[in-house]
Amino acid sequence: MKIFGRRDRERRGPEGLWHTCRECGEMAYEREFEMAHKVCPKCGFHERLSAPERIALLLDDPEAFVQIAPRLATTDPLKFERDGLTYPEHLARYQQSSGLIEAVICGKGRLDGAEICLAVIDFRFLGASMGAVVGEKITLTVEAAMEARLPLVIVNCSGGARMQEGMLSLMQMAKTSAALRRFHDAGLLYISVMTDPTLAGVTASFASLADVIVAEPGATIGFTGRRLIEQIVKQKLPEDAQSAEFMQEHGMVDLVSPRRALKDLLGRLLNLYTGAGAPVDSPAEEAEAASVEESPEGPEAAPKVDESQPAGGQV
Ligand SMILES: [Zn+2]
Repeated sequence: MKIFGRRDRERRGPEGLWHTCRECGEMAYEREFEMAHKVCPKCGFHERLSAPERIALLLDDPEAFVQIAPRLATTDPLKFERDGLTYPEHLARYQQSSGLIEAVICGKGRLDGAEICLAVIDFRFLGASMGAVVGEKITLTVEAAMEARLPLVIVNCSGGARMQEGMLSLMQMAKTSAALRRFHDAGLLYISVMTDPTLAGVTASFASLADVIVAEPGATIGFTGRRLIEQIVKQKLPEDAQSAEFMQEHGMVDLVSPRRALKDLLGRLLNLYTGAGAPVDSPAEEAEAASVEESPEGPEAAPKVDESQPAGGQV
């Protein structure tokens, strides 16, 4: 299934048009802005990327990306209606405007030569809310990575659970967390990339359950909204309390990486991991390989994979 449609190419616009930054209000050449992967050349503000743009940024050959469950679509369990539209009618609108079937694209590809399973969530689709399909596709991707003994990268963003699916939406938190627990127990690497905004049920489940958590500069990261927290604790939060930088200072995020350096950083993390000899065909073969192969680090190299997880990576 093609992920780079005509709409993605058209959105880049003809050369010579201007882009106005929604952070600083300054104008920059659209082409310059696009060349910088939608980072404002004046103030460094990181504009949101669509899932196809993110895949193009990260993968060595985006066209070779093999999708997992690309046509999985949701049902209408609550017969939900809002603004005179049924839930399927709302979905149809977002499908048309985004060119996506659901809010997440998942699959297998290569990043800096390392084969990975990758899931990318797209904020354009219903605020990247987590419904049953988002949860199911994330779970299927975790399971595919586990079966193939591959590292997993999830580029997260979300406004939270999808109210149109009620309890089924909340259940995705438990389902994805359970799948990641099995993945973790299998000794495999999961890198979470938190982009703007990563909030609510996604923060409280799979986005935070990684071995390494990387965030983009200025990304809003948190659980619930600032106003609600202030009402409950009856005090003002620091101005940057829900920023990637604040989360890094307080141990919830391991690294904050500018977008231009993100692929290189992920590549280095993946190569550190694969360089330790972890992704072999099965746990039995891994044990055998560790005992017979000579590596610069000696026979202890394989167990070191688990020890390399930063303490801040687990929530
Ligand atoms: Zn700007």
